[in-house]
Amino acid sequence: MLYVISAPSGTGKTTIRRRIEKIAPDIKYSISCTTRKPRPGEKDGVDYFFLDEDEFRNRISQGRFLEWANVFGNYYGTDRVYVEELVSQGYDVILDIDVKGASQVKARLSELITIFVLPPSMEELKKRLTKRRTESEEALEQRLKGAEKEIMLAPWFDYVVVNDILEEAVNNIISIIKSTRCRKENSRDVLKRFLDLLT
Ligand code: 5GP
Repeated sequence: MLYVISAPSGTGKTTIRRRIEKIAPDIKYSISCTTRKPRPGEKDGVDYFFLDEDEFRNRISQGRFLEWANVFGNYYGTDRVYVEELVSQGYDVILDIDVKGASQVKARLSELITIFVLPPSMEELKKRLTKRRTESEEALEQRLKGAEKEIMLAPWFDYVVVNDILEEAVNNIISIIKSTRCRKENSRDVLKRFLDLLT
């Protein structure tokens, strides 16, 4: 099953991601491609596949992205084949992408489940973004304005999770994924085994 998690910049997406990757090895995050420069500590092939703009545009024209978007002046995109491979290996796959990307994927794949992560408040979001010190003043303002626009679109998502206490947010996301696994349409194999025996 494929999931999209969208969250305004500074909501704590990366921390949530690292925690889920640690405690739920059957859930895989898709690693996106981006033209953004790596932040201190970010590694190529771990946090993102870092590409230059020419290479990114090449891949757009080759149709290699399931979705792509320009976010805050940088390109971000999801490699289609990479995601298909993870799904075919039986993983639940999370796309950690912006709202524009989420709507592109939803238009292509109806079985997608979408989750929006909210900060506890706008004041807290500003505090977290300022504390991170990875953006210039101008970029920070841009990200805050972007956050307001994205939050307006939260009602469009299937689920909303507030990241106030990290462990709670992580548990809520994992619960959404686990309950989806139990839906009857996702339990066909096990149901069939019983029904074949009993009929
Ligand atoms: P950041 O630069 O803070 O890592 O990410 C900025 C924004 O880009 C976030 O909202 C993040 O969800 C989004 N993003 C990251 N990867 C992708 C992607 O592959 N596609 C799209 N559409 N957005 C992405």
